Amino acid sequence: MSDPVVRAAGERAVYVHVPFCHRRCPYCDFAVVDMERESSPVERYVDALVDEIGMAEDWAPVHAVNLGGGTPSVLATEQLARILEAISERFGLVAGAEVSIEANPEDITSQSAGGLVAAGFNRISLGIQSFDSGVLRSLGRLHDPRQAREATIAAKAAGIETVNIDLIFGTPGESTESWLETVRNALGLETEHLSAYALTVERGTALSRAVAGGDPGPDPDDQADKYEALAELIELDPYEVSNWARPGAECRYNLTTWAQGEYDAFGLGAHGHRGGVRTRNFRRLDVYLDQVEGGRRPVQGTEQLDPWEREKERLFLGLRLRNGVRAGAAGAALLDSVAGQRFQAAGILKAEAGRLLVTNPLFTDAVARESLALTPVS
Ligand code: SF4
Repeated sequence: MSDPVVRAAGERAVYVHVPFCHRRCPYCDFAVVDMERESSPVERYVDALVDEIGMAEDWAPVHAVNLGGGTPSVLATEQLARILEAISERFGLVAGAEVSIEANPEDITSQSAGGLVAAGFNRISLGIQSFDSGVLRSLGRLHDPRQAREATIAAKAAGIETVNIDLIFGTPGESTESWLETVRNALGLETEHLSAYALTVERGTALSRAVAGGDPGPDPDDQADKYEALAELIELDPYEVSNWARPGAECRYNLTTWAQGEYDAFGLGAHGHRGGVRTRNFRRLDVYLDQVEGGRRPVQGTEQLDPWEREKERLFLGLRLRNGVRAGAAGAALLDSVAGQRFQAAGILKAEAGRLLVTNPLFTDAVARESLALTPVS
């Protein structure tokens, strides 16, 4: 099989944002509608999504569709099926396209998983985060470890081709033993894909206010230890610094975005990239709905990509990939920079056959961040 990253660079994808969540988690800064506290016009929103997709410019059939959020699994199967039909009608899907949904365990039963397969989904990403009920409570999650296991088993039994388990490590109060138990539980479910992210404190969230008020925040050393423990135990292929997969089960949608491929985006606050232009949708629900219901595309802004910014972004994203990234002009600038020389001297950054590679995943973010500040080598 060809290199999935190279293949993804030439592919087309569609992202659909479903903002509704049963309740906002304290660490989350996404464009989310908290169904416990805010008005949640779900059916009206689905109608708007279908209309927005119908207004999109012509395109060839797409290779990957991703329903993200928010929590797309709060929608009824019929609503999800309507969204997929609108995408199929507007663009078409290539044979074997990846059709993926992000879901929370409390929404997934044998029946709902069967409904997802019937609607056309062949990939599911389960926001499990932890198999420790205390950690799940700290993260404000609504499911328990039993529901997490049952949802995974139901998704597999329904015949969803790729099941991903999403984990978060380094929640304050999570012991090393608790994390190892979470990892063992996740690996024991033998899914095709696993993602793991360190808990981060985002500005404006309840977590950031709690940390500012004196609560303990995540400890970077503890998170580094937990990442290493996971990397040692997992047998899936580490194709990206936070993502592991069986060969052939890499996430096609994510690879397209990381490889700077093209993707149209629909829904509240969604960001797209087509033909060298970035688009960004309105982030306020009433404004988004008014726009679409008035027959207008809900695009708040567009940006023609500056070639150097795009080149730096290519390096930033590519450094996170296991096989590294073609060096190019931004890579040359990184190697030439003070930080780049320091990373090379420490053996963290390696240049080989025109490619750049971060040798220790724990330093990926530090190296990648440097690429955003680079100026061209004169
Ligand atoms: S379920 Fe996911 S998207 Fe929704 S609030 Fe929690 S972290 Fe954010």
